[in-house]
Amino acid sequence: MRLADKVAIVTGGDSGIGQAITLEMARAGARLMIDYFGDEAPANALVEQIENFGGKAAAFSADVSKPDEVDSLVAQTVKHFGGLDILVNNAGIEQKHPFLEMPFEIYTKIIDINLTGVWLCSQRAAQQMVKQKRGGRIINISSVHEDLTMPTNAPYCASKGGVRMLMRTIAVELAPHGITVNDVCPGAVDTPMDAALKQDETKYEALLSEIPLHRMAKPQEIAELCVFLASEAAAYITASSYVIDGGMMQKSGSL
Ligand code: NAD
Repeated sequence: MRLADKVAIVTGGDSGIGQAITLEMARAGARLMIDYFGDEAPANALVEQIENFGGKAAAFSADVSKPDEVDSLVAQTVKHFGGLDILVNNAGIEQKHPFLEMPFEIYTKIIDINLTGVWLCSQRAAQQMVKQKRGGRIINISSVHEDLTMPTNAPYCASKGGVRMLMRTIAVELAPHGITVNDVCPGAVDTPMDAALKQDETKYEALLSEIPLHRMAKPQEIAELCVFLASEAAAYITASSYVIDGGMMQKSGSL
């Protein structure tokens, strides 16, 4: 099993891409701490699902933008599973408004969760990993929008662009400790985040026309890349962004 005996935290691990990562890492032998925010039922159901196939998992509620709650998440993981080897910074939100009308509170909320949350979880997890002296893995679920513009979604793009430079910089700082840090950058993934878009046939077709493979990604396809990056096979990979977008970023616009 590629992640046997490893302990992983997945933030926002109860929904969409996070849920798929949680399941794939558990199937690969890792013990999972599922961070959730809000309703506890989906996280508890996921723990049960993992235990049913013989895996190990627990759930803990923490807002990734709150330092005290992130401290508790890491402390609880160490108490429950005896250490921490893998952090997946998956929690994220978006809310679209034209830049000229974007309310300041929405801008700060998106930055707090998508960028400050990655900062906080990475710092607190890395402090634990350094103490353990056995290396570690930090994987951020970023987006093609760490590089690609998206009008009406400026705070989201700013947060993911920030995650890219945060990842590169801390990867260099953490390398002497054997901790690798990488970004996974999906294009369009079939999750609750994009559910509204799928309801609108015109917008959905317009989105598919932007994707050379002409479909959204399945969450599991993102999860499998994360399992690889968390495994020993990826020991030499750090400070990099992995685009997984069906070719979206290279679309020539010639059709
Ligand atoms: P989702 O809405 O299904 O999942 C987001 C998760 O984040 C939920 O579990 C939610 O509870 C959690 N969350 C929100 N605020 C939180 C907070 N303050 N503290 C802790 N958890 C919090 O959406 P998803 O599509 O699975 O998104 C997961 C990640 O993937 C996000 O970072 C998103 O930016 C990124 N992403 C998604 C897509 C896509 O097309 N769906 C594409 C590229 C990147």
